[in-house]
Amino acid sequence: MYKKVLVGVDSSDEASQVLSAVASWPWIGDAEISVLHVAEHPPLSYGQWMVYLPIDESQVEAHLLKRVEERVEASGLKPQDCRIVFGRPIDTILEEAEEGGYDLIVVGSHGRHGVKLLLGSTANGVLHRARCDVMAIRVRED
Ligand code: AMP
Repeated sequence: MYKKVLVGVDSSDEASQVLSAVASWPWIGDAEISVLHVAEHPPLSYGQWMVYLPIDESQVEAHLLKRVEERVEASGLKPQDCRIVFGRPIDTILEEAEEGGYDLIVVGSHGRHGVKLLLGSTANGVLHRARCDVMAIRVRED
């Protein structure tokens, strides 16, 4: 069975669906579960330039962590830790998984087709580049 499971959650209500799915798996057993939200620095378009405004990361982190922890609690999942990391979602999820020695990554998937799939969703990016197993939870968009 899996020993370390990394659950990626975005900032939408779909995060609750992913967390509830993981919480319902009896086979997850004694695995160490971490919940990760990757916070992106919002780029600002200025003419042809993209600039990044300086933000107080610790304030943003505390705010986002509270939101994630509320969702985790409501789902009934009991992770070892919840954390916020700044970066780009796909790269950061993969880095955290490798550095932390996780053997399973869980993400939500919309099961998109066509152009959206070609452009690549987070689940798609993680699935194709991960060195460990990836579980995609089909989320409803209604
Ligand atoms: P998306 O492809 O962006 O619709 O997201 C699909 C799934 O990827 C989400 O349900 C999450 O499991 C994961 N994900 C997306 N964005 C993030 C993020 N910023 N941090 C962590 N996981 C994310």
